[in-house]
Amino acid sequence: MTVPLTIERDFSLRRLNTFGIEASAAAYLRITAAGQLADIAHDASLDGLPRLVLGGGSNIVLTGDFPGLVMHMMIEGIAVIGADADAVYVRAAAGESWAGFVQWTLAQGWGGLENLSLIPGSVGAAPIQNIGAYGAELKDCFHAVSAFDRETGRIFTLDKAACQFGYRDSVFKQALRERAIILDVTFALPKRWQPNIRYADVAHELAARALQAPTPRDISDAVIAIRSRKLPDPAQIGNAGSFFKNPVISAARRDALLLEHPQLVSYAQPDGSIKLAAGWLIDQCGWKGKRLGAAGVYEKQALVLVNCGGATGRDVTQLAAAIAADVQARFGVRLEPEPIFV
Ligand SMILES: Cc1cc2nc3c(=O)[nH]c(=O)nc-3n(C[C@H](O)[C@H](O)[C@H](O)COP(=O)(O)OP(=O)(O)OC[C@H]3O[C@@H](n4cnc5c(N)ncnc54)[C@H](O)[C@@H]3O)c2cc1C
Repeated sequence: MTVPLTIERDFSLRRLNTFGIEASAAAYLRITAAGQLADIAHDASLDGLPRLVLGGGSNIVLTGDFPGLVMHMMIEGIAVIGADADAVYVRAAAGESWAGFVQWTLAQGWGGLENLSLIPGSVGAAPIQNIGAYGAELKDCFHAVSAFDRETGRIFTLDKAACQFGYRDSVFKQALRERAIILDVTFALPKRWQPNIRYADVAHELAARALQAPTPRDISDAVIAIRSRKLPDPAQIGNAGSFFKNPVISAARRDALLLEHPQLVSYAQPDGSIKLAAGWLIDQCGWKGKRLGAAGVYEKQALVLVNCGGATGRDVTQLAAAIAADVQARFGVRLEPEPIFV
């Protein structure tokens, strides 16, 4: 079935980005079927316009009006596509809400995604930065993705190895940046589920609830409770979650930093590298609760930048640059933003 291209012009994006930044798109299109992506190429009125693929808008900073076409991914659908001795395979379309999808899997009685409960955004964007939280990453239960190739107009699939998942990274942020539009993601949900309670906060929350043998649902409930306490709800205070990635450095560099900063918060990684807590570095520079223009640093978590009311992309960019400069000057560590600047 062909879905017509209903293009809206000068479309406000304020309610489509969780920072709540006011900016408009020259052209806007809801994508509810993959076929529309091929049809766009044949629409002369869109020739030469830059393109932006948009999901839930929870990992972007709009730095101004977008002069091109916003393709808002709203393709829906969840299907069980198979099972073997190890896993149940479930496919979810790009426009499904991530948090909603996680709850759906739990309602079927399948574990695997519970540590990633309540992360905002869409299923289609989840592989882009290999979303992660509370000791788990999307890649842990990922099976395959299908995507539309903007260069060839073809649909292709990639398995886990081809996606080159890393810490908040994947091939979609590297070689396939601006090229792949994710249509759906297939997950392998393990039949022999094991709780992942490596993360201290989760273990404490479960202990406080006297849950010695937690189910996937128990872990999801615990994660949701922790997140609700720690992170601002974008419906109340505009934000894009953690604004900076945790910097990864060598053990030697960490040892040198410890001499000057004995309280340094760091975590050894399986490959021997060291992850620093970006929030701690920012807090040490005195930024928690501070603001610059209409953008600020969340008072409960220094890693989260917030819209204090009417913030522009420029406010957010300037605040982020000021924080990164302070951290660089004090610790010699470079902070890299997590959201995509548009
Ligand atoms: C309160 C809060 C908490 C958060 N917590 C976490 C967390 O714990 N862990 C974590 O990893 N992230 C977290 N985030 C960040 C964010 O939720 C995730 O990165 C999420 O996956 C972004 O999804 P989205 O649909 O909103 O993407 P968008 O913001 O719409 O887009 C992000 C990027 O992906 C691209 N994109 C979107 N959809 C597609 C598609 N179908 N195909 C190709 N490209 C696409 C966009 O072009 C853009 O470059 C948090 C954000 C908020 C606001």
